[in-house]
Formats: sequence, structure tokens, C-alpha cells
Amino acid sequence: MKLINFKWQQLILSLGSLLLIIACKSFYPTNNLDAIPLRVATDPTFVPFEIQRASGNLEGFDIDLMNAIAKVAGFAVQFESLPFDGMISTLQAKRVDAAISGITITAERLKTIAFSRPYFKAGLAIAVREDNQNIKDFNSLKGKKIAVQIGSTGANFAKTIPNAKISTFNSGPEFFQDLLNGNVDAVVSDAFATLYAIKNGKLKGIKVVADLLTEEYYGIATPKDSPHLDAINKGIATLLSNGTYKQIYQKWFHAEPPQLPDSWHGTRGLGDKENWGQGERVLSSSHLLSSCPPVSSTPYL
Ligand code: GLN
Repeated sequence: MKLINFKWQQLILSLGSLLLIIACKSFYPTNNLDAIPLRVATDPTFVPFEIQRASGNLEGFDIDLMNAIAKVAGFAVQFESLPFDGMISTLQAKRVDAAISGITITAERLKTIAFSRPYFKAGLAIAVREDNQNIKDFNSLKGKKIAVQIGSTGANFAKTIPNAKISTFNSGPEFFQDLLNGNVDAVVSDAFATLYAIKNGKLKGIKVVADLLTEEYYGIATPKDSPHLDAINKGIATLLSNGTYKQIYQKWFHAEPPQLPDSWHGTRGLGDKENWGQGERVLSSSHLLSSCPPVSSTPYL
């Protein structure tokens, strides 16, 4: 009798545990990837995509987007600040799970790391001092002193300008200061970040040449064969279709987001020498000047 009782007790206990497991699973309907937060690298000098507030809080288009992806995909995110130049090697070494930092998808980078589907349409712009009248396009950059950010697509592009004298810097605030000081004639860098800083009064005395040099797409970078890439891609697709992407875009750029391709097919202007300097109007930047919202507290320059 005692033996039977014990067996019943065991059965009830096992059934109870099973029910508890089922209940927990349906309460947290997420995948196995959510147990440990995703370590996501970002360089918070790339305003307004990533901004470090005085409080230490991270904000920006990329930060909002990554948090929204995490929410729909069911994982937690832990951001880690890293200099842009070290991001690709850190991903290769798998010291982080992903990176979001306005990183342009390029054929060269795809050799060592993986990228999500494109999440932002961008392009390189030439910035000059307001009084400069002679730098108007790629051809007029020949032989000039040009500042770029180390390891950026702007730095790669500048290498193709005949006889240019190139100075390299770690971040935007530094190379714009060099332009203002008169040490260089132009900066070649991402248009949106430059236009945003001009619009928000953080870059006085600098203007952007109207035609962009390239058409680029930003992607979320991961190590090759990342177990998280699929969830990230599905997350981006969900945000594009449910209106969240549009909301985040409007919050930071006060403009309608452009159409994004489902997958990356190349970068116009980069790695495509035929088009360089042909005066091809890749993407006009002028509409953006009126579309950026004022953010007086942006710690820029
Ligand atoms: N989009 C540029 C690149 O990928 C620069 C990005 C950045 O400075 N954060 O090289």
C-alpha cells in the first residue's frame, strides 16, 4: 500500500512539473536565444544614429531600431561602446554578437563578416567650408587635402581621388574641426550624419555639396554564421511592414523613409569606378537639410 502511494505521489509530482514547464513556455513564447542578452557594439560618436547622453544613456536611430528588433524577435540587448575602426575585427573574433553603427554593407566587408538585410539608405557627401566655391564634385577634389574617418567607406573612397592628400581621424567631431581650422579642404563622410549636425547648429561654417558621391546601405553586422542573423532579419521585416520603422525614421529625420531593397545588391559609386566622378546624381541631399529635427542637446563638436 505504501509502495502504491509513493508511486502515485511520484506520478502526480512529475505531471505537476510537466504542467509547470508547459505553462512557463507559453508565458514566455520566445526562442532559445533570449537567455543571454545579445552583445551589440556601437560607436556613439555617429550622431544621430548613436548618441551618448551625458547621463551615459545611448540614444539614436540605430539604438531605437535595435531595441525594436529585439522586442519583436524576443531577445534582450546589451550595447557595448567600441571605436568604429575596431568593430569589424571585434565581430570577426566573436567578442560581440552584432554591431549597429551606420555600418555600410560592402563586398570587402562581406568577405569577413555577415550583414542583415539593408536597414538604411545612405551615401557619402563632400563637406567644405561655407565660403568654398571651387569644390563642387568628385573631379574638383583632385589634389586637395581631404579628411576622413579611419576604416570608413569615406576613407576608402578618398583613396581613389587622384593626388589627394588624406588625413585620417577617429571620429566626425575631429575631422570637421580640422576642416573648420583650415587644415583640410574637404571632408568625405556619411551625408546624413553631416547634414544632421549642420541642421542642428552643431557644425557652423560648413556646407554639404548637393550631389552625393555614393549610394550605400547600412546593415546590422554579425560574425559569419551567426545564429542571430535570421531573427534580426525577420525583426527588420516586421518593423518595415508594421509601421515601426517609419515611426523611428520620422522621429529622427522628419521625413518619409525611402524604399529599401530586401537584400543587398551592391553600392553605387563604391567599387564601381565607371560611375565615379561622372557627376551622376545618385541621391540629392538638399531635401534632407530641411528634414532634420532640431536636437539642441546633441553633444556634437
Ligand atoms: N557608413 C560608414 C562606414 O560604414 C561610416 C559609419 C560610421 O562612421 N559609423 O564606413
